[in-house]
Amino acid sequence: MGVMYQAQCSCGFTSDELLIGAGLGGGYNIPVACSTCHRVWVQDIKKGRKKCRKCKSPIYHLLQPPSSIVDAYACDFAPPMTCPKCGKNELTLEECGMWD
Ligand SMILES: [Zn+2]
Ligand SMILES: [Zn+2]
Repeated sequence: MGVMYQAQCSCGFTSDELLIGAGLGGGYNIPVACSTCHRVWVQDIKKGRKKCRKCKSPIYHLLQPPSSIVDAYACDFAPPMTCPKCGKNELTLEECGMWD
């Protein structure tokens, strides 16, 4: 179970709903972004995929996990992140619900 977030930027960019937190099978979902596709999505931190599935560009983590586990609630205090659309550090995560 975890918290549902949506990434938003002042340029008008918004992401899909992001299910950040512990997922099924003991994984942990963190938000990642591709600046080529202008997309934000979540992926299991343990899979450690570093390329976009669509365009094969390198992707980047929006949240920098301190170690292996990220506290989903830390998202509320996360500094502004790099927007995959405009490249400014104005992307923030807005809480928009819970999931399980
Ligand atoms: Zn891409
Ligand atoms: Zn932006």
